[in-house]
Amino acid sequence: MEALTIREILEAVNGRLLGDFNDLDAAVTKVETDSRTISDGALFLPLNGERFDGHAYINAALEGGAAGCLTQRERESYLPGKFYIKVDSTHRALRDLAVWYKHRFDIPVVAITGSVGKTTTKDMVAAVLSEKYEVLKTEGNKNNDIGLPLTLLRLEKKHQIAVLELGMNHAGELDYLSAIAQPDVVLITNIGDSHIENFGSREKIFEAKCEIFHYAKPGAYAILNGDDPLLATLRGHTPGDAVFCGSGEGLDYRASELESDWRSQVSCRVDTPRGTCRMDIPALGEHMIYPTLMAAAVGERFGMKLEEIAAGVRNFAPTKMRMNILNRADNITILDDAYNANPQSMRAAIEVLDGYTGDYKIAVLGDMFELGPLASVLHTGVGEFLGRSHVDCLVAVGELAKHIYDAAAAQDVPECHYFGSKEEALPVLEKLLRPGTTVLVKASRGMEFESIVGYLKSIT
Ligand code: ATP
Ligand code: MG
Repeated sequence: MEALTIREILEAVNGRLLGDFNDLDAAVTKVETDSRTISDGALFLPLNGERFDGHAYINAALEGGAAGCLTQRERESYLPGKFYIKVDSTHRALRDLAVWYKHRFDIPVVAITGSVGKTTTKDMVAAVLSEKYEVLKTEGNKNNDIGLPLTLLRLEKKHQIAVLELGMNHAGELDYLSAIAQPDVVLITNIGDSHIENFGSREKIFEAKCEIFHYAKPGAYAILNGDDPLLATLRGHTPGDAVFCGSGEGLDYRASELESDWRSQVSCRVDTPRGTCRMDIPALGEHMIYPTLMAAAVGERFGMKLEEIAAGVRNFAPTKMRMNILNRADNITILDDAYNANPQSMRAAIEVLDGYTGDYKIAVLGDMFELGPLASVLHTGVGEFLGRSHVDCLVAVGELAKHIYDAAAAQDVPECHYFGSKEEALPVLEKLLRPGTTVLVKASRGMEFESIVGYLKSIT
């Protein structure tokens, strides 16, 4: 972040100084919301969460080195040498500060949303653009009303393009995030069933995703999944030019001739409006064509050659817990996809396991949350899908995963186990492991399946 003076902060958030601090030229070079990891000289921005009120940590943050803070309330006393800026809402102030700060930089913003694959696509687009440009990208999964403004507040003069992930669980959220990001390029990965309980139908999810266009720059360029039936209907209805990506005939960015070594990479032929190139993608799963094609479209939009784009794709590294391949010395492979799960990504992960080298394939699958009344049907669907694969063994864990188990057992998956909790599953898993085994571990975030991955890594 470039230095921000107190005068500028006051203007940006429409705030007022409390106490007797009056050096308006003093500056901060960081904005932080966590008092436990506060940096020296930072601006502490306390947020009110459901479970905690950041205002309770103002003293801790200031004593920990913060130069000053925002606050929604006047205080009984003020620490000497620290500044306090009164605002109506720290949450809105974070947004206003980020929007104000962003206007200092005249750089294009690429904003990515969709049901599945946002982080993967964000990392791929950033990997490609980094071949030619200095890129600011969303760290990890910081894609919400807090993470997005904090990301923009990391902008520095050296940055030439920003690649931002925008997430949503409810209607209206992308409208809010779009106003902050004001994208020049909009990517929508797909429309799936994630968070369907909050919407009722895919059409409603589709409408909500389209909110990303609300505050897009006039004529913003759209890069969309052309294999997605709902996104395909946007042809001719976007604010500016649009290109469609996928495997379907006639799409602007098209992947074909897919090959996989089933260990570390897939490769495919990529056709773009400017040329053709074979690309090696260092990740598993056929769905990796979408992030690759979308990154190629962004790259070409910003004047990159196909060879540069292919080099960037080769440098892609998946974020932690997203289909990470862990090879143990004893020829046991763990496919760590514990980060999250929904019906689409479950199927994609099972396909990867299905095709993976190895004599014995185990799927350790847990609950998928936020599916509302459709939960049992969608879990059953995963079990049936498993039944059509060559997976040798299912270990289902969790309340909803019982539906996966029931369907898989009915489909004659050779070996099926069900456990209500992770603790019960671990000793059985240990017995199942033998050299040549490949184990996929996947469930929704709340299941915290990383503990299963940790266990599988630790036992010998
Ligand atoms: P979140 O909503 O948690 O931010 P996300 O949209 O960022 O999720 P990722 O973290 O990129 O999604 O991917 C989640 C999972 O989906 C990973 O297991 C990944 O391998 C898989 N995945 C990524 N893209 C696709 C796709 N197009 N189709 C199916 N699965 C995918
Ligand atoms: Mg994400």
